[in-house]
Amino acid sequence: MLSRRLMSLTPYVPGEQPRDRSYLKLNTNESPYPPSPRIEAFLRSYDISLLRLYPDPWSLSLRQTMAKKYGLTEDHIFVGNGSDEILSFVWYAFFDGQYGRLLFPQYTYSFYPVYCDYYDISYRRIPVNPDFSLNVDALIGNEGDPSCGIVFPNPNAPTGIALPLDKIRDLLERYPQDRVVVIDEAYIDFGGESAVGLISSHENLLIVRTCSKSFSLAGLRLGYAMGSPGLIRALFITKDSFNSYTVGRLTQAIGEIALEDEDWFADKIARIIEVRTFFSAALEEQNWQVLPSKANFVFARKPGETGQRVYERLKERGILVRYFNVEGIRDFVRITIGTREDMNRLLEETKSLF
Ligand code: PMP
Repeated sequence: MLSRRLMSLTPYVPGEQPRDRSYLKLNTNESPYPPSPRIEAFLRSYDISLLRLYPDPWSLSLRQTMAKKYGLTEDHIFVGNGSDEILSFVWYAFFDGQYGRLLFPQYTYSFYPVYCDYYDISYRRIPVNPDFSLNVDALIGNEGDPSCGIVFPNPNAPTGIALPLDKIRDLLERYPQDRVVVIDEAYIDFGGESAVGLISSHENLLIVRTCSKSFSLAGLRLGYAMGSPGLIRALFITKDSFNSYTVGRLTQAIGEIALEDEDWFADKIARIIEVRTFFSAALEEQNWQVLPSKANFVFARKPGETGQRVYERLKERGILVRYFNVEGIRDFVRITIGTREDMNRLLEETKSLF
């Protein structure tokens, strides 16, 4: 009954979204803060008869708003239903196993190998440095083993470690210009250095972003990509091959409002960074190892414990964190930064449990 293609696939296992009881959710990097109050005001006065009409398939007004915000033009912007959807277009549009293997870091977003299996693209995991930072020389130094592209999150997931802009520039200078380099900036707003400024000089650079984290809109499903008009056109060809990928009318409108509320944004980012600093120091005081994070989560381990045990014991106490059954990082858990109260509650549990 099933196609052979489907039988060989392993589905992506997303972070737990429990329905059975209420947990303090620190496992999927959602924001603890409600989105901009301007959205509420907009929804209250929204003329719902507009929902009779199909949305603009090119999301032009939203793309223009984004373009203005990032100093680009709308032909540099693509939007999709979450960055995961955009990433699936990216795999389809740019990576071709005929040209070589796709490269990504040893520890990275767990969706990347899933897309590779789906689109039948072989890949190579590139070892990271002993401190878990990305190794640009290793990413580039693959003579005799050609690659069809590079993809990495910056800051990386699940480590939270950021790659500085000078290293990104170095990578782009040395990597073949006819292969696409995708930087997944899902967490960039929490202190990393964005590569948006390099788009004008590197036609093979594509940046993928999401409104799920820094805009507190994970429930909306809105992501965007920025790159040269040639790359953006390729994404539109992929999207337009089916009529089902258009971003909904309400999502387009809410996205515009969220992106324009700069005061709300600055305040929430500052709070999350402040809580991250406080929480990292407090965990270290409890003798945890905490990697230096530029994201809205920290990656940490308590010597002598496994990530799974930490996860299970905290779950019994009503707190969800994430562990990874991956060689080399089995000791770690990834903990989303919540409010200061959330983190104090977690710290009390970690103090008594471990
Ligand atoms: N990229 C990375 C690195 C992520 O961690 C996530 C969130 N799981 C995504 C992309 C997808 O985000 P979304 O589909 O919610 O935009």
